[in-house]
Amino acid sequence: MLIDRHNRIIDYLRLSVTDKCNLRCSYCMPEDMSFLSRAELLTYEEMFRIVSLLVPAGISKLRITGGEPLLRKDIMQLFRSLSGISGLKKIALTTNGTHTLRYLDELMELGVRSINLSIDSLDQERFFAISKRDLFQPVIACLQEMMTRDLDLRLNCVVMKDQNIDDIIPMVELGQDTAIAVRFIEEMPFNGHGGYYEKLEWDHQRILTHITARYPDFQKLPDPPNSTSLNYQVTGFKGTFGIIPAYTRSFCGSCNRIRLTAPGILKTCLYQQSQLSIRDIMRSGVSDEELLQTFQHAISNKALNGFEAEKANPTHISESMSLIGG
Ligand code: SAM
Ligand code: SF4
Repeated sequence: MLIDRHNRIIDYLRLSVTDKCNLRCSYCMPEDMSFLSRAELLTYEEMFRIVSLLVPAGISKLRITGGEPLLRKDIMQLFRSLSGISGLKKIALTTNGTHTLRYLDELMELGVRSINLSIDSLDQERFFAISKRDLFQPVIACLQEMMTRDLDLRLNCVVMKDQNIDDIIPMVELGQDTAIAVRFIEEMPFNGHGGYYEKLEWDHQRILTHITARYPDFQKLPDPPNSTSLNYQVTGFKGTFGIIPAYTRSFCGSCNRIRLTAPGILKTCLYQQSQLSIRDIMRSGVSDEELLQTFQHAISNKALNGFEAEKANPTHISESMSLIGG
């Protein structure tokens, strides 16, 4: 088992397969973002080796993310190989929905049924203002189709002051007749240009207050183990809504995850500024045993929470979430 020094079992790996994206969500990356070269990214063979090594050690859930993961060339090759790893119980995907429909059938056939679709607005103009690209139609078509499929579908919506507050209630109302889980995420400072709020105005409490002012009749749902969202249901709705306190970080205590960024840096905490290049270690020719020991050692030193990890950082966060994968 992979266990950290706080006795937490680590069974979840988030793998960013590319930093490239066809949207420019303002909270994630600047318009003039420069992307990594192909040689700087982990290859599919390297990803397969890592996952094959970590699954027998205790990783049972994998999320493929990015950048926009479905933009990477021959991406289904990766899903096909990963789906053959025995012991890997769940392969999940986070996607912006622009290219997802064309892969949906094959993803489902491979058992990828847990899909997070990121959509920050149900209004075309606001979608454009946030994402800077005119791709609302394919994303809405993707959402509509996915709502008819047998999927564990979650919508991710980053809540941004002055940008998409008017979307919060319509998003909750998507769950009126459909068993969908909508999750509102506090904006984090991983925007690629170092900008941050002195105080986050739309934190989880304010989001909840906003929703419950419109729908005072709601229940708090039990949160699954290791859940990052506080989950609720409006009485009579089929769907649920959750709020992820990603910035105020009240969920860190039960963290079960590690991240590999697009260039193969291992982050044992989102807020850690790690330099541990798994890619370079692999390319230096280490054995599987040495590689596993590298993971075990890093995991054992995982920070207790995002605040502890942040304190150890020499500089303020300036990374783009597209490298890290969310
Ligand atoms: N491109 C895919 C997508 O948008 O779903 C996958 C990668 S994206 C980096 C993963 C998730 O991170 C998305 O749900 C996105 O909304 C979220 N995210 C990105 N930057 C963020 C930030 N600064 N604060 C909070 N969430 C963020
Ligand atoms: Fe692209 Fe996802 Fe970042 Fe938006 S959040 S710019 S869709 S990687």
